[in-house]
Amino acid sequence: MYLKRLELQGFKTFASKTVLEYELDKDGRRGVTGVVGPNGSGKSNIADAARWVMGEQSLKLLRCKKSEDVIFSGTEKKPRSGFAEVSMTLENDDKPELDYSEIVITRRLYRDGQSEYEINKQGARLTDVVMLLAQAGIGQRTYSVIGQGMVDDVLSATPIERKAFFDEAAGLRPFQLKRQSSMNKLDASRDNLRQSELLIREIQPRLNSLERQVKRLEKRETLEQELALLQTQYYGAMYRDLESALSTAKASRDRAAKEADDASAEAEKSEAELRTMESANPPSEEFGKLRASLNRLMEERTKLREKQFKLETSVEIAKVRSEKPWAPLPLSKIISSIEALGQDQDTLLQAIESDKMDVEKIKQLASSIRAQITDLTSKLQRPAPEPEQEKDADPKLKKEMEELVTAMDDITHQIQAVQKELEDFNANEQKNRSHIFDVQRQLSAKRSEAARAEGRKSQASVELARIETRRDAFMEDVRMHIPEQEADLASLASKATDIRNPESLAPQLTKLRAQLEWIGGIDPETMKEYEETKKRYEELTTQTEDLVGAMASLETIIKELDQTISERSRTAFRKLNHEFGLYFKKLFGGGEAGLSEVFPEPEVNEEGIVVKPVDSSAGPIGIDIQATPPGKRLKAIALLSGGERALCSIALICAIMATNPSPFVVLDEVDAALDESNSRKFAEIISSLADQTQFVVVTHNRATMERAHILYGVSMGDNGTSQLLSVKMQDMLKK
Ligand code: ATP
Repeated sequence: MYLKRLELQGFKTFASKTVLEYELDKDGRRGVTGVVGPNGSGKSNIADAARWVMGEQSLKLLRCKKSEDVIFSGTEKKPRSGFAEVSMTLENDDKPELDYSEIVITRRLYRDGQSEYEINKQGARLTDVVMLLAQAGIGQRTYSVIGQGMVDDVLSATPIERKAFFDEAAGLRPFQLKRQSSMNKLDASRDNLRQSELLIREIQPRLNSLERQVKRLEKRETLEQELALLQTQYYGAMYRDLESALSTAKASRDRAAKEADDASAEAEKSEAELRTMESANPPSEEFGKLRASLNRLMEERTKLREKQFKLETSVEIAKVRSEKPWAPLPLSKIISSIEALGQDQDTLLQAIESDKMDVEKIKQLASSIRAQITDLTSKLQRPAPEPEQEKDADPKLKKEMEELVTAMDDITHQIQAVQKELEDFNANEQKNRSHIFDVQRQLSAKRSEAARAEGRKSQASVELARIETRRDAFMEDVRMHIPEQEADLASLASKATDIRNPESLAPQLTKLRAQLEWIGGIDPETMKEYEETKKRYEELTTQTEDLVGAMASLETIIKELDQTISERSRTAFRKLNHEFGLYFKKLFGGGEAGLSEVFPEPEVNEEGIVVKPVDSSAGPIGIDIQATPPGKRLKAIALLSGGERALCSIALICAIMATNPSPFVVLDEVDAALDESNSRKFAEIISSLADQTQFVVVTHNRATMERAHILYGVSMGDNGTSQLLSVKMQDMLKK
């Protein structure tokens, strides 16, 4: 990499656009470019421009009081400039890792203070420029531009300041910048981690509470599923069993009714036959009377029996219908009843405590509470089976039944008496009316059969009524618990074919319902909030993990950088020390010089006891210089003469340039204090280093000028601005 071009416009004395072109020498070496001219012509302003475009912020180094002092301030003949602009073009022929074959860095400053940087015409930040130059191996502040008076700075600096200078010269700057940026990132990560952990601690309790609610919700869902399945099984199988029992009972009742009808028809047939026979063969008048009275009695008894059956059946059905199956009251109803009771109680207490006691109102409230308690208790208690006799105790029906029984007994006695008379009479008529008697016996048997059939019909009706009652209670249960499925009971039944004994499922059903009532309803927003909180928590946890991971890798990077810095620093120091000795000897024609590392001292208290020992892994904190010119014994650099100091500094600068060659170095009258012989030596050294480093040397020194392959002459024009004239030495020599 070398400096190809420097363009100045409005910068200090370079009011108009001025371009300095640099090129390799005839042997393809980086070479030496000399800048010559009278005092005050603006030569050092060129060095300042190089320093400024590389991002220099020190006003002292730029020889300014304020930032805008770099802008051409105008002369009598030329108005001032509105801005200063310097562009530095670097040819990158040896650093492929930088991605650019040519780098143009531009810095611009306007009078209103607005400042701009560009890298290859793209807006950039100062840090981008600094990083790019560090990667290119160009140290902006230290030795890439060495100004007038700065030579001695190396000697007069403290060991710590000197170390910083050498570190940059040793090419440690990019690593140190990287380390600094890693440290900044580490600090930022630490802050973010603290923030994340704080937020996690804030969210955690809310998440725990939401998690508990969601678990209840899940439990509720499981129970609801279980309940839905159980309900399908229970109601389906119950419906199936009831329907089947109902149809069986209906069929039995219909069959019994038909049998009763048939038997009664048979009896009527026999009766008709008997009547026909008797009219063909009429009995004696007395017999006729007896028969007629028997028939009337029998008819009456039949009517009474029918009435009795009907009464008995309706009594039985009424009894069955009154037997409502008991179902436990739902918990929610119990709770709401108790709450209502509590409210009435409060009102009662208020009424009692109030000054104007309204006795009527209190009585009213008390009796309402009593009624409620009785109602609730009766709902909560399984009713005790009522005594049999009490159930039948409809007095009207009872009286009717008693009268019926008396009438029946009476008629039976009368029938028995008439039958006795008829039998006696029959005994005499046996012979001529025997076939009539046969029919009479048959009629009697058929009447008995008809009565039995009527009894069976009555039983079947009672059974049917019982099942219908059960079905009604079942339907009430359905409407209370699964009203939406009332129309789908047949389909439920088809899903419960494997359930044999549905009644046994009832306790589990009650238990599940009670559990669900106990869990209660859950706000549907809870799930949403839980999902959001959980997501945030997980994001924060991931963020925390990422941060911990990032911090670990940053720590590793810093450790590796520390190692690289320490290794490079050691190697560079050894080489620098060696080169310093050599250049010192060359410039002084003998003598001894060397560098030593300064390590931190352990911290001691007033009694001299170590309170903080030195970290053995920490490197040196400074660099000291020892120099003994030939024939002398002194070692302290403070005791050197002015010229000796200049030579010693130059030896050190040359050692740095040899240790870590910079692509280019601008030297501004570094050789000003040297005598002719030393100037020659210096020029020789510069020339030998120009293999690897391009030198731009501002000088008044002939020996140095002679080494330059391009010479720029700077003069102060009539209008008070710097003028530039370039002379290629090769062309000069040709002439
Ligand atoms: P020497 O050989 O004595 O060191 P030089 O050629 O290096 O001289 P410079 O130091 O480059 O000279 O130039 C200094 C001159 O530049 C001074 O005369 C100073 O007034 C002038 N100067 C500095 N800043 C500005 C500015 N902003 N506008 C105009 N002139 C300026």
